[in-house]
Amino acid sequence: MSSTSPTRIGFIGLGNMGSGMTRNLQKAGFDLVVNDIRRESADQLVANGAEWATTPAEVAAASDVVITMLPTPRHVETVVNGPAGILAGIADGGTWVDMSTSVPEVAQRVRAENPHRDLHILDAPVSGMAVGAASGMLQIFVGGEEADVARLRPVFEAMGDPERILHVGAAGAGYTVKLMINQLWFSHLVATAEVLAIGVKAGVDLAVLRNSLIASPANSNFVQNDMLSILDHGDYDEGFAIALACKDLGLSIDLARSVGAPSELSALVEQIYRRARAQYGDLAGEMTPVKLYEDLIGVNLRLERVLV
Ligand code: NAD
Repeated sequence: MSSTSPTRIGFIGLGNMGSGMTRNLQKAGFDLVVNDIRRESADQLVANGAEWATTPAEVAAASDVVITMLPTPRHVETVVNGPAGILAGIADGGTWVDMSTSVPEVAQRVRAENPHRDLHILDAPVSGMAVGAASGMLQIFVGGEEADVARLRPVFEAMGDPERILHVGAAGAGYTVKLMINQLWFSHLVATAEVLAIGVKAGVDLAVLRNSLIASPANSNFVQNDMLSILDHGDYDEGFAIALACKDLGLSIDLARSVGAPSELSALVEQIYRRARAQYGDLAGEMTPVKLYEDLIGVNLRLERVLV
């Protein structure tokens, strides 16, 4: 692989996140080769000049760098190691960047089973929701070799906020940081929903309660900003399905188990998320656990108008 920045990007997984990320790569001038099991997800990209490839192997063979943005580790495994997968097409010296929220095992297996191949493998999961993917302002947490991260910086900058593209350690570290961010955010969500439900049920006005929390040491970015989409207009963020949120929580707890760290609170948050998924369906938004509390107290948590 040359040390120059790549120009031809392969991208597999054109869903809620991948669709925005590829549009921004295209806008930044990269040539794209794309694939998804839903052919129609590429229509707009192809109309704008992207090349369609029928398999991940073809994507890998036709590009300098292959990016995956897939739902779960199982999907990543299929796309990389399955028949006509990336490994079947990638040249020696080639680069694979997994931007899915996933775990290091797939990449570790690829390295272990191909000890003589010169493959550059990075994990670079993201935060910032579908809206951040669309606006090109994702946070990106990169695990991998310093030289690879430097070479790929222009690619990451096309999709993310340059100030928040962080090289967080060796291969695998990006996955860990991302899982910990989600674990804490989901914990904030459940804790905030519970507190608002109790306070409102006890008779305090929602806006007064919220403003009091914001003015207190208990304030958080979740209370002040992220909760607003629900409080303002009942938007539980269907851009991120609760099935995927449950996947992240499961991976986070598996990680805790594998390193021998306790995770009592995380396990409880996961159970509450799984209850909401069972009640409202796989495609319900990632913030739907708030609805569990709303339904239990018989009140939708909505502000008349936003005071802060
Ligand atoms: P999504 O389900 O909307 O998109 C996934 C895409 O992968 C779909 O288009 C699907 O057709 C495609 N796909 C599945 N299997 C495939 C295969 N074998 N070959 C080719 N394509 C295949 O998911 P998403 O919301 O875009 O999330 C993608 C990843 O990003 C997940 O790991 C998720 O946890 C993570 N993530 C999502 C968000 C968000 O807000 N949506 C935010 C941060 C991180």
